[in-house]
This record gives sequence, structure tokens and C-alpha cells, in this order.
Amino acid sequence: MEGEAGERGDVTFLRRHLGATIAVFLCAAGLPLVAPPAVAAATAVSQVSDIRAWTNEIYTRVAIDTRDEVSWQANTLRADPSHGLPPRIFIDIQGAGIRDEILHKPIEVRNGLLRQVRAGRFDSDTVRVVIDLERESTYRVFALPGPFRIIVDIDGEGEIPALPAPPPASLAIPPNAAHPAPVPMSRVRVMIDPGHGGKDSGAIGPTGLKEKDVVLAIGRKIREKLSRSGEFDVRMTRDEDVFIPLEERTAMSNKGRVELFVSIHINASRNRKAGGYTTYVLSRGASNREDLELAARENGVPVRKLQGVKFIIDDMFTGARKNESLRLAKTVNDAVVRHVSTRYPGTQSLGLKQAPFYVLVGARMTAVLVEASFISNAREEARLRDPSCLDGIADGVVEAIRYYGQNGILAHSDF
Ligand SMILES: [Zn+2]
Repeated sequence: MEGEAGERGDVTFLRRHLGATIAVFLCAAGLPLVAPPAVAAATAVSQVSDIRAWTNEIYTRVAIDTRDEVSWQANTLRADPSHGLPPRIFIDIQGAGIRDEILHKPIEVRNGLLRQVRAGRFDSDTVRVVIDLERESTYRVFALPGPFRIIVDIDGEGEIPALPAPPPASLAIPPNAAHPAPVPMSRVRVMIDPGHGGKDSGAIGPTGLKEKDVVLAIGRKIREKLSRSGEFDVRMTRDEDVFIPLEERTAMSNKGRVELFVSIHINASRNRKAGGYTTYVLSRGASNREDLELAARENGVPVRKLQGVKFIIDDMFTGARKNESLRLAKTVNDAVVRHVSTRYPGTQSLGLKQAPFYVLVGARMTAVLVEASFISNAREEARLRDPSCLDGIADGVVEAIRYYGQNGILAHSDF
């Protein structure tokens, strides 16, 4: 169903240039740019409870938390030098209050892209969140449900500039690294993302094994194995049992200019016999009900809420790195199944698939999500308790990343 048009749900999507030629944009129901649509009726008085930002000099993500669904619209103002005002993006949120602490505490950044993020009461019924930019930029705004949050992604330039020189070796190598990198200048940045954590257990197996624990163990093994050669700068979105929102995982990766993002999950199904390994890339829709249910579960939302995501995942989100992501996903899945099969012959591959996973939305690098067997399947759950099975999964991911790196695909990275 990828590419399916017409089912535009409760999520609005705007993308504009602040430059002289306003604007490349999509908006709900084809309404004109001059009047961005109110996208969802507020059902109750809600509150802007937090504003979060991740930023470097070429990228910023701002998340505005309202918990309950709210009506909102985004717009821009060009710089007004006569009044000392920079270019601004502002989000008006109707029918909402705002926590006093946020009202009086702008987030100051001043890093060449973002000056600050501030919020105020525009009128009795509207909260306005203003993003003061240091320079005109391309941006996009979308909302994610459960809990409701409005996400603003800002690109410092239309084209992503080349990376600055890497830090000297003495800074790049952890003091206790067992195998320091011989040539740290060329280390590839990889983000390993163990799913779930903290209050979010993920799926739970018939004997109580928790997805969040298994994927953390796998993630640590991947980091350990991948770090050995010194070719890779391996990071993790979490290295302990903590909850990290999905949009933050993507933001951490973009901010860190990571070149490869691998999210690790374990599948589950109402069909207790379902088993096997799949690796996913981002797409607007899913090819079947099971994949849609899986994405909804991983996103922490009901299936019906996923309708809106078709709208926010456009070609800009999936296109740039899509081919590389597809290639990496296939390589990962093949290698994982091969490695696990040496211990457990007959391990099943369900192949490469596509589905709308929030954690992949807005990722600016090659990005895949592994569903490493089914925790709901008693036999596979038992294997997931076996460290050698987890080693096999990690070995497969590591082999795929190394293969992917060695075959020059990374040379074409946007970063
Ligand atoms: Zn999961």
C-alpha cells in the first residue's frame, strides 16, 4: 500500500522554505497555504507540558508535548532587521494552556542554526511556540499521537554540508578501549537502538521474557563486537533500562550525524506459532494487517492512529536513503538468519519488509529496524534466553554493517 494517496488523517504536514520563494508544501485536503488547516478538533482543554529540542549547527528537532490531541497550525515569519527580529517558525496551538515554567524559560541555543525556542500565550485561547532561527531554513512539522506531540524538524541548509574534520584520536577513543582505532579519521558512526525500555517493556513472552531486556542485551553485544576493529564509532540510544521517546532516538541520531541507524526489536503475534526474522525499512503503509499491527504496537498507538502517518512520511523522509536502507535491511536479515541458523538449523527468514515505524520517521541516515524472531512463540522465546542465539543475532548485524561499509555504500552518505 505504499504510495497510497487519499487517506489523509488527522496529521497535517507542512514544509516550507523561508527564502524568497515560499514554498514547497503539502497540506491536508489541499487547502491553500495562506490558511493552514486546523487539523484536529480539540476535545478538551489541553496543556503544553514540555518543549524539548535537539540541535546542532545543521539540524534541529523541536518536540512540543501536549499529551492530549490539540488543534495546531504552523507558519513562518521572515527576518525583520528593522526590529532586530530573526526568521521565525511559529506553531499556534488552540484551546491549550501552558505550564508556567515553560512560559518563563526560553530554550537558548545560539549555535548558528537555532537562536532559541520560546512560548507564550498569543491570546486567551492560543499558545504560540516560536522558534527563532539564526538563518533561514527548510523545515517540516508533523504530529505524533500517543501521547500527542508536535515535531518540528529544521534543516540548516537545503543541502547538508560536509562533515567537519573528525576530532583527534585522543578524543575519539574511549580511555579503556581494548582495541583502539588505528585510523580513527575514517570511523563510521553507527547508532544501535535497543527498542523500548523503562516503563515500556515491549512485547512479553509466554514465560515472561521481556523484549526490552532482550534487545538491550543484543544491542550491547553488537556494540562490543562492532567496536573491536576500531572502524566504527558505535553509539547506543540507551545502554540501560530507561524509557526514551521514539522521536528522541531519531533526533539523537540526526544530531550526532550518525551514518547508520539499526533499531533492534523482537516481534510478537496473536498467532503463537508465528516465527522468524524480518528487517524493516520505513514506508507509508504496510503490505498486510500483521505488519500494520506490528508498527502500531512498536509505535505505542492503536492501528487507527497509523492512518495519519501515511501523510507525514513523504519522499523526503524515505527517498534520500531509501535504497541504501533497503540494501542494508536485506543484508542484515540474511546475515542474522545465517548466523542464528548455525546454532538453530531451520531458522526462518520472513525477509525484507516495509512499515510505518515512528522511530524511522525523519531519520537522515540509512536506517533499518530488525524484528529478531517472535517472543510470543514459546520455542523462539526459549532461544532468546540462550546467549549464543543473541550472539548469532549480533554477529549477523555486525557482519552486515561491515559488509555495507566495505562495499563503499557509505561513501555516498549525505553526511
Ligand atoms: Zn519492539
